[in-house]
Amino acid sequence: MSRIAVLDSTLRDGAQGEGISFSVTDKLNITRALDDLGVDLIEAGNPGSNPKDLDFFRAASGLELKNATLAAFGSTRRRGIQCGEDDGLKSLLSAETPVVVIFGKSWDLHVKQVLKASLEENLEMIRDTVAYLVAAGRRVVYDAEHFFDGFAADGNYALATLRAAAEAGAECLVLCDTNGGSLPDRVGELSSRVLKEFGLPMGIHTHNDSGLAIANSLAAVQAGATQVQGTLVGFGERCGNANLSTLTADIVLKLGLECLRPDSLPKLSGATRRVAEIANVSFDEGMPYVGLHAFAHKGGMHVDAVAKTPVSFEHVPPETVGNVRRVLTSEVSGRSVILERVRRLDPTATKESPLVAQVVKRLKEMERLGYQFEGADASLEILMRKAAGKYKSFFELSHYRTIGEQPTEGKLSAQALVKIRVEGEDAISAAEGDGPVNALDLALRKALERFYPTLRGMRLIDYKVRVLDTMGATAASVRVLIESSDGQDAWTTVGVSTDIIEASWLALVDSIEYKLINDIERRYKAYL
Ligand SMILES: [Zn+2]
Repeated sequence: MSRIAVLDSTLRDGAQGEGISFSVTDKLNITRALDDLGVDLIEAGNPGSNPKDLDFFRAASGLELKNATLAAFGSTRRRGIQCGEDDGLKSLLSAETPVVVIFGKSWDLHVKQVLKASLEENLEMIRDTVAYLVAAGRRVVYDAEHFFDGFAADGNYALATLRAAAEAGAECLVLCDTNGGSLPDRVGELSSRVLKEFGLPMGIHTHNDSGLAIANSLAAVQAGATQVQGTLVGFGERCGNANLSTLTADIVLKLGLECLRPDSLPKLSGATRRVAEIANVSFDEGMPYVGLHAFAHKGGMHVDAVAKTPVSFEHVPPETVGNVRRVLTSEVSGRSVILERVRRLDPTATKESPLVAQVVKRLKEMERLGYQFEGADASLEILMRKAAGKYKSFFELSHYRTIGEQPTEGKLSAQALVKIRVEGEDAISAAEGDGPVNALDLALRKALERFYPTLRGMRLIDYKVRVLDTMGATAASVRVLIESSDGQDAWTTVGVSTDIIEASWLALVDSIEYKLINDIERRYKAYL
């Protein structure tokens, strides 16, 4: 049985999506999440195209990936020069990735009007570039940009571009529906033809401009393609790329082919949510397989039927993709998921334990306020500890105050003052920061460090804000996600309020408490 390799382009094509911008930390976190899921190739841009990509490749070379191989991405050499003189190719090699993805032009219109090259020149550019990278020890995946449009305009020429790449040593030929306008029967037909003609492994790269990215990818796989390209959450240029959370599930569950790792599918929902959180895009809960609505049942008859036999309204069991069935009118939704988490605190807990009921109730109250815990494990942990009575407060807040200053004229733009009480003793401190949240974070930790010296090694590494209920409420709530690290672990916490400073404060407090709880547990374990 053939195995379908997965190339995720979240960091490259995905980064072209409107409103998407990744920091180096974001990129590293996405790389880890994709690797955990079992993706084969992670395409991450060209270090020559911007300094952030260069920083990323440097930092990523230190990651120990379990499943994935990193791939740099770039174009064929420029016209009129040797490969060795081409800056783009030099920087591609400097990424030192085992795999390089090279895209070349298949469409005569692009060659003549965009590249301003002759048709023969373009073939030489493809041939030279692939051969050069192969000689430099790289495995080369060749992306035939606009292949389907190119074939429609001049089929022989489109095939000639593939031949140039194949003869120069590309290990895989990828047919790209770059403009996203092709239909599945056409994609299937041309995929078969290319496979027959070249006998090389073939891949498919589709865009969703006609709503057909998944259908087109599946048509290619059914015709024999063994690599699929896309982005896990589906975002990308214009209407996005093939959504890999849908596509990989379809390949395994509908086509019965191997894809990702044998244990990957149950991680699919979590990984997709994680990447969306890091990218700071709202998660489309209507997404097939992984969305909150995918296995939600509302209304008496459906609920009743699903309770009798789930297949009555579910095409696959939700747990196969790491999702859960939600019965929207009932109190028990999510209980089995919660149970698993509660058992980490109390191994004797069962579905019927009052503790589980209490946690579910509390979670629902919080979710109604706009909390979402999928991306904020540390806050979830604290919520559960509070419910289980395994929580001790480390300090009480008397009050805090922040002052912003504009224009800043080079100075730090905000000051914060925090007064707290620890075991009957008052502590007050002030700090300046780059914005009120930064100042508040610094002031709070300064006040606490005297009592809890390990906080000195902790820092805030990411901060994200999402506006909730954008539908016109005068005071919209905001959800703040904070990622913190102590150099050993990283964790994420969440706070919700109509006031952005308060939402940030709530997330900050959770973050500090999580760190202190963990320190205590680590020390306790060391004594055992
Ligand atoms: Zn693309």
